[in-house]
Amino acid sequence: MRTTSIIAKYLTDLGYQVLTGPDVCAADARMGLPSEEMLESHYQRALSQGAIPEYAAPARGGFTGVIGTLHLGAGPVIALRFDIDALPIKEDESADHLPYKEGFSSQNLGFMHACGHDGHTAVGLTVARILSERKEMFSGTVRLIFQPAEEGVRGARSVAEHGHLNDVDYLIGSHIFPYSTPGEQIGVSVGPTLATTKLNVTFSGLSSHAALPEKGHNAMLAMASAILNLHAIPRHSDGPSQINVGTAHAGSGRNVICDHAELELEVRGCSTEVNHYMEHMPHKFFRLLLPCTPAPARSRPLDPLHLS
Ligand SMILES: [Zn+2]
Repeated sequence: MRTTSIIAKYLTDLGYQVLTGPDVCAADARMGLPSEEMLESHYQRALSQGAIPEYAAPARGGFTGVIGTLHLGAGPVIALRFDIDALPIKEDESADHLPYKEGFSSQNLGFMHACGHDGHTAVGLTVARILSERKEMFSGTVRLIFQPAEEGVRGARSVAEHGHLNDVDYLIGSHIFPYSTPGEQIGVSVGPTLATTKLNVTFSGLSSHAALPEKGHNAMLAMASAILNLHAIPRHSDGPSQINVGTAHAGSGRNVICDHAELELEVRGCSTEVNHYMEHMPHKFFRLLLPCTPAPARSRPLDPLHLS
């Protein structure tokens, strides 16, 4: 929310027509929202850390994101997408980490604009400034979309469902990736990216004492077996695909047969079809072994599987 306020003020000062808050995100299409208590505490924290109140207020309640538009006469509508979200990652505090050394690392322990998102925001604001200084060189409409919640592919939907892409002729998105290049070089390339789906899986078993394993149904063992088999899904012949089980949580005690386990995983594919194949292979795998019922909605739309 602090980031949102800074972007909104910067674009306003450059002369952009600026949208914030519910004018950016369709409220009902937002996904994976934190609790209202957490949203409010983060709003208060943003204010205490220097958010600009008049520009932060529209973001209160989880409406981060800014859209800035320049109308430059007749011509195509070109949208540029920059993501601005923070991630639950602790920033490096070693002496050779430049942001820490120079005093612009994250103020919030355990969170940072990782994954290049600080860079994306900086690139977006710089593009905004350069375009505003060269208006005579362009004809058409430029729409700069500073998108919330790129991580976990949750934020784009609320922007799209608001209608901000309906009249767009060209939509350009980019992402920073670290490649090892000789010296201090920056490379730019154009190419395809991967379609992706995120899945939550819950295993429900039956608890028992470790001395009586035959009385229990061990959810942890089911989970462990599933992790290995998920990574062994035979791949589609159309092209590259990926799968990653990123988190696994299970168990309550050393001498307890585990009755509950949870996985967070993702699949990716070189096309929507290949991604769909990777997404549905785990469904087939689990349904062959176990009856499935829908899990309670924890964080839409992670398409949860609930296994018993
Ligand atoms: Zn990212």
